[in-house]
Amino acid sequence: MTDASMEKIVSLAKRRGFIYPGSEIYGGLSGTWDYGPLGVELKNNVKQLWWRMFVQERDDMCGLDAAILMNGKVWEASGHVSGFSDPLVECKKCKRRFRADQVEDKCPECTGAFGEVRQFNMMFKTQVGATDDASSVSYLRPETAGGIFVNFKNIVDSFHPKLPFGIAQIGKAFRNEIAPRDFVFRVREFEQMEIEYFVRPTEWEDAFEEWRKNVHAFNEAVGIPSSAVHELEVPDGERAHYSKRTIDFEFDFPFGRKELYGLAYRTDFDLSAHSQSSGVDLKVIDKEGEAPITPHVVEPSFGVDRTVLAILASVYTEDELGGEPRTFLKFNKAVAPIKAAVFPLLKNKPELVAKAREIYNMLKKEVPQIMWDDNGNIGKRYRRQDEIGTPYCITVDFDTLGDPSKNSGQENLELKDTVTIRDRDTGEQERVSIDSLVSRII
Ligand code: ATP
Repeated sequence: MTDASMEKIVSLAKRRGFIYPGSEIYGGLSGTWDYGPLGVELKNNVKQLWWRMFVQERDDMCGLDAAILMNGKVWEASGHVSGFSDPLVECKKCKRRFRADQVEDKCPECTGAFGEVRQFNMMFKTQVGATDDASSVSYLRPETAGGIFVNFKNIVDSFHPKLPFGIAQIGKAFRNEIAPRDFVFRVREFEQMEIEYFVRPTEWEDAFEEWRKNVHAFNEAVGIPSSAVHELEVPDGERAHYSKRTIDFEFDFPFGRKELYGLAYRTDFDLSAHSQSSGVDLKVIDKEGEAPITPHVVEPSFGVDRTVLAILASVYTEDELGGEPRTFLKFNKAVAPIKAAVFPLLKNKPELVAKAREIYNMLKKEVPQIMWDDNGNIGKRYRRQDEIGTPYCITVDFDTLGDPSKNSGQENLELKDTVTIRDRDTGEQERVSIDSLVSRII
């Protein structure tokens, strides 16, 4: 589909400061990755786009940022303490451990025989405070959803939203995956963007359809082509313990077709379980004069890291420009970590540098994600920006200063206060006025 292979993506991501292996100078920590300066911009763009699309631009959504550590009882009530596990097998010979559903009947490392399959709980257990007893046990949240259900009553009491309405949250989640793999696809610490959309019990199918469309709309917005996203109806017996219907949105990753996002109908499982376990009534009055009801919930769940990886795989491109091979990232403008780069044609001409700085500062006030580069020749700078996916490069030359004699000798004073702007995808340059730059790069 694209020119992307995992090796190429991982290597570019490291070299150009998108994503580094976690704790690298200590030999790493399996299942963790650190986002570098460009990676964090990309990730923030993705999150901001999501928040804007699903929270700020809608009237039926509230945002939330709940604590990662929660009372341990939350995860007992939600069923995660008893049921959030993957099947684990251990090789009798080399003692290596694997996810039972990912291996055949012999150890892939040493062909030894496996012991019994047992359930391995994926939550990271921790202790809160100095007392070491059962009451101090807590977990790093395995999904952000828990914080939403526990704050349901708070939000209803503060805002009195009418059904249907949703609560959205972006934040870290942690799973002690048995076999982290495939770069940031399966990690132990990741970020989720989740929505619990509360509906009347009879309305869940409409909401499910609406969110199915919204998932595709989000993919379009971040530049993940719909042709690479496939819906999978998850059959009975394979869904999470809380779900009556789930669709997985799978993406054609370089290592195969795998889950990008999930959409689940969680019924009233969570609100009922938390109500029962906490003793707090979590019902709402839907119609005056009628008995209060427990809303049902439709949950679209988006992984930030898998989004970043799907974007990288979608935009990674190799082509030839001016007879030379090149690698570039075809980010759309909305997610590109850098929107434009500004260059003085020559680094050792103070008048060019001063004018380029002036333009850089002016642009940076309007569009913060702007980069300065005066290193090496212009061709090299273009290639460097292509490789990090910068849509536009802006060059300040002698024409900009109204000093055409120093340029091509072209006596055209009308070129004063114009610059060249080069398009990443075509490599074509155009002369435009400085005044038009902001509207072009936004
Ligand atoms: P998988 O089957 O791949 O383990 P899951 O079905 O357990 O995923 P969900 O519980 O539906 O995943 O989590 C919702 C979303 O969170 C996923 O669609 C994915 O985008 C993200 N996610 C889940 N686990 C991980 C992980 N270990 N690393 C990165 N992202 C994850």
